[in-house]
Amino acid sequence: MVPELVGKLTALGCTVAVESGAGMLALYFDDDYEAAGAEVSDDVLDGADLVVSVNPLADAEVRRLPTGTSVMSFLPTNQVPDLVVDLRDLGITSFAMELVPRISRAQSMDALSSQALVSGYRCAIVAAGLLRRFFPLNMTAAGTVPPAEVVVLGAGVAGLQAIATSRRLGAVVKAYDVRSAAAEEIRSVGGQSIDLQLETLEGSGGYAREMTQDRAQRQMELLTPYVAAADALITTAAVPGRQAPLLVTASMVEQMKPGSVVVDLAAESGGNVEGSVPGEVVRIGHAQVWGGANVAAQLPQPASKLYAQNIVNLVTLMTRSEDGGATFAPDFEDEIVAGSCVTHEGVIRHEPTRAAIEGPLEPPPTTVADTYVEGEPS
Ligand code: NAD
Repeated sequence: MVPELVGKLTALGCTVAVESGAGMLALYFDDDYEAAGAEVSDDVLDGADLVVSVNPLADAEVRRLPTGTSVMSFLPTNQVPDLVVDLRDLGITSFAMELVPRISRAQSMDALSSQALVSGYRCAIVAAGLLRRFFPLNMTAAGTVPPAEVVVLGAGVAGLQAIATSRRLGAVVKAYDVRSAAAEEIRSVGGQSIDLQLETLEGSGGYAREMTQDRAQRQMELLTPYVAAADALITTAAVPGRQAPLLVTASMVEQMKPGSVVVDLAAESGGNVEGSVPGEVVRIGHAQVWGGANVAAQLPQPASKLYAQNIVNLVTLMTRSEDGGATFAPDFEDEIVAGSCVTHEGVIRHEPTRAAIEGPLEPPPTTVADTYVEGEPS
């Protein structure tokens, strides 16, 4: 939560309590929250109907919550199955921000998009900062310095923001993505779309599909000259629910020019670039390779503000205001509520998570009416 949005929740009739020091790293101080109408305390869990955080609560914190309490945060269910089991068994209602459906009505609640936007911007700034030459063209009396060439692989929300930011800094930007809609999106933010003449890979919900080994190999071969010619390479490719695809091998990076820069936003989730290390800058050939780690947090103020706005919009959808007060009353008939819910009333409601934790559903027991024996009247 950020101080300037506390008023949106109190206007709904909610009482807002903020953990002491919660905003410090984003340069929001306890006094700012109090001035905005929140209570600041060391123990905010007591009496809360809804607990909102960025990362999921720790197991010990969840165990302190009474049955029926709701929690809302990023909740990577495949990484924290034990926590999901606790949430189920304790009767906690949990909502995962990464499960908010990506439909038009939910755009203002889409924290994946808001955080990807921050990360994409940061990637372009990191590339410009590490590169020891100009991004823009400079024509001076002393001569002309050509613009830097930036190649962006993966043109989703983060990649498009990296393209737009690099363009604003004056670089020439070429970009590639496996989705067919991406070419037009790349051009719309000032980039040149790289056409590899390969089939596009559309998955469900506007996302990409995983590549086959052959397709991945062919894509690497075709991208090699683009990577070799780039001053800066920014990679942001992802496939939901999978490790990030490997797009660039170390030998491709070794062909880059002296002083070139690689920024791998996907380093934490497996890496688009072979050899990138999350949170570190390593040298491969002549290139400095920067591996992203919790990249949105490197711009904590806009990341927090946009995340808080996503949360406020989702809480507003799930809150009923009455008689000057508010009741947190999610309507599970609503597609956004149902889609983002992980556990409710002792049940894991997100089916892929349920199947991963509890195994396949038992087939329904056969009833007498289902049993037909040849020759007997049914
Ligand atoms: P993402 O983070 O899952 O992936 C990032 C990008 O990597 C995607 O564009 C994907 O196509 C690309 N990619 C995957 N494999 C690749 C490969 N082998 N080579 C090159 N690129 C590869 O996706 P995202 O950025 O969260 O969203 C992707 C798209 O989803 C958006 O561009 C948009 O069309 C859609 N979207 C819709 C909504 C909405 O309607 N509310 C919200 C957000 C995103």
